[in-house]
Amino acid sequence: MKLCMIGTGYVGLVSGTCFADIGNTVYCVDKDKIKIEKLNLGISPIYEPGLDELIKKNHSSGRLIFTTDLAKAVKNSDIIFICVGTPTKKKSRSVDLNFFFKAINQISKITNDKKIIVTKSTVPVGTGDLAEKKLKRKKNFDIISNPEFLREGEAIRDFRYPDRIVVGSNNKKVFKIMKSLYQPLINKGAKFFTTKRRGAELIKYASNAFLATKITFINEIANLCEKTNIDIEDISLGMGSDVRIGSRFLRAGPAYGGSCFPKDTKGLLSIADKYKINLSIVKAVVKSNQDRKLLLTKRIINILGNKLKNKKITFLGVTFKPNTDDMRDSNSLVMIPYLSKKGSKISYYDPTGKKKEFNKIKNCYFYDNIKKSCENADLIILNTEWDEFKSIDFKKLIKNKKFKIYDLRNLYNIEEMRRKKINYHSIGRSSTN
Ligand code: NAD
Repeated sequence: MKLCMIGTGYVGLVSGTCFADIGNTVYCVDKDKIKIEKLNLGISPIYEPGLDELIKKNHSSGRLIFTTDLAKAVKNSDIIFICVGTPTKKKSRSVDLNFFFKAINQISKITNDKKIIVTKSTVPVGTGDLAEKKLKRKKNFDIISNPEFLREGEAIRDFRYPDRIVVGSNNKKVFKIMKSLYQPLINKGAKFFTTKRRGAELIKYASNAFLATKITFINEIANLCEKTNIDIEDISLGMGSDVRIGSRFLRAGPAYGGSCFPKDTKGLLSIADKYKINLSIVKAVVKSNQDRKLLLTKRIINILGNKLKNKKITFLGVTFKPNTDDMRDSNSLVMIPYLSKKGSKISYYDPTGKKKEFNKIKNCYFYDNIKKSCENADLIILNTEWDEFKSIDFKKLIKNKKFKIYDLRNLYNIEEMRRKKINYHSIGRSSTN
């Protein structure tokens, strides 16, 4: 089939590339010229394991086309996927649909031909209805919802082996076309689930809010473990072995971040507000997660004996999770500016490089390797669980013999740290000192 992806970000680029890889011709369109120029040179604008190779392979075969020419891409495609950002509005928790409706308007001006418009962006319940109203002159358009569930860092695998593909449409004829598009994935075991358009829109928000709830729940239980001398890892294992609960998203750590959970939990609350429904659980999750950033920052202050001035603090990893360069809503965006303001000297290393977000932060330096970033540290904060942080010989690396570690990902064994006489603190477990 011939496809057009409007928005070549984390979702549009990965799904577009993977659609090309299963034999479709895909136009990846973006308004960002630099992004498209890079892609045409074979350079991925984002870090996602395995993506560079897949882009090169499909671009050179001619099945994957990168362009800023939306009109050409739309005219040449049977199915148009909208993959633009749907961020939280600046002054409220509601969803900013400007990019989405701009894309809808652009499509309507380009063609009257029969097209299927697929909303892959995460949009509030009723957005498809609104878009349809705006396009009511264009009888040939079917607007359907096909929310995306891929996770950054695992995006290619998630695209190829999804648990389910959700398609929401009020026109049942469209299901057949969408099913044939996804047939290669269905053949490998993906469940193809169809529902009404509004249903599909809500499935996405409800799923993300549920996962955010699971994380927040175990984070709060970790707080209790710290006070009761119980190891949270045992609790996660003991609970997660129950298939009704499941072990995934049950690992305690810092506040959840990234481009989806924080924005989608707030987005769901704004949808509920509109219908005057009190989603008290989701409200509590959002608050607990915000409070957690402060709670962990206080813990850092405590570990450093309530003295932050001139303390050398190293962050290992600043993105919200490993295997991605995405900084959106990462904990480090709250912690680093706060600690710097209080007079600490920050060093950081991240496998995906220097971050522009910290350019203006006083006394905050990027190092391009673990050793240099750590050697003078008073406190190391293990912020992201990249593989290369999992077996560091800290004693060899750090000059200051009184250094401390705050492991937000529970990457190290406490007994081993105790044996090595390292002052080690983690989440939901006892400390070594
Ligand atoms: P992104 O910000 O990485 O990419 C969006 C892209 O759209 C940008 O490159 C932007 O330049 C482009 N764009 C905006 N308007 C355009 C237009 N009119 N024409 C052409 N290009 C345009 O966003 P993302 O992370 O890929 O997320 C996209 C959507 O998918 C969001 O609704 C998000 O909630 C949802 N989603 C994201 C993820 C994820 O892991 N990032 C997972 C599932 C769902």
